[in-house]
Amino acid sequence: MNGNFLSKAKAVVVGHAVGDALGVPVEFSKREELDKNPVVDMRAYGTFRMPKGAFSDDTSMSLCALDVLGGDKINFDRVMENFGKWYYGGKFTPTGETFDVGNTCSLAIENYFFGKKSWRECGMKGERDNGNGSLMRIHPFALHAYRLNTDEKTKIRIVELASSLTHAHERALIGCGIYSFLLWELLDRPCLESIVSGLKTAETYYRNRAESEKYRRVFSFANLETLRRVEREDIRSSGYIVDSLEAAVWCLLTTSSYLSCVLKAVNLGGDTDSVAAIAGGLAGALYGYERIPREWRESLLKREEIEALCAAAFAENGKE
Ligand SMILES: [Mg+2]
Repeated sequence: MNGNFLSKAKAVVVGHAVGDALGVPVEFSKREELDKNPVVDMRAYGTFRMPKGAFSDDTSMSLCALDVLGGDKINFDRVMENFGKWYYGGKFTPTGETFDVGNTCSLAIENYFFGKKSWRECGMKGERDNGNGSLMRIHPFALHAYRLNTDEKTKIRIVELASSLTHAHERALIGCGIYSFLLWELLDRPCLESIVSGLKTAETYYRNRAESEKYRRVFSFANLETLRRVEREDIRSSGYIVDSLEAAVWCLLTTSSYLSCVLKAVNLGGDTDSVAAIAGGLAGALYGYERIPREWRESLLKREEIEALCAAAFAENGKE
């Protein structure tokens, strides 16, 4: 299954990074502004004055993880060390410059390097620490867990531990878990019905955890009658994990190509790069690498390095 798995993993990783890069120039834009001047292609400059094809923290932090993944066990200290190389040193960035860092991630990384805490204790646990900062970088861990071919509980534990490096509140753990169920279903069966079945599996899995109540609306999208009644105005594309996940899933369920899904996500405005990255990773799994427009793939900065990290993480025998 591995040759096949690697090509699927590449579709997820590149699909995510392309979504990120499409959203970077218009991050924080209002929806009404984008309605007047919608994103239809890769742009340069804008919010962070970055060149065309530049990705942000979503992809950089994912590369920090991919660089470590390979064997069966995950060395979370090495993931934290890579977060430090990115945060303090600009490694894993498109231009050598670190930008667009979320507060919760900063605090967790500072806890590790200056608070000298173990990786198990660095993640932030407050109610306000429920941004999408772990959801936007969870796919490498979800891919890793999928490949282990172990039971559901073990796979979810890996994903939740990976979230907790920065985002340790129960709501963030569950958000990352729901995303992972969707991804796993899509990897097994790349079709829209897999999103519906993934939502149902996640709802059942988390039914006894109180915080799963926050995800009731996204779970309701599994009912296509309910989904049809959801208007674009009902979708908030903020950086709050619940909003970002809802927005990404809604974009997936209401479009029929990679291109239309990620453009719909970006043009919602708000946290454009992360919502498009979250949607883009899942859309990569759904439609495959070849359906990510070639021009977008080719304009993604450091694409070859991204694909090499993906190949090293998910090669047949893994790394030593
Ligand atoms: Mg970002």
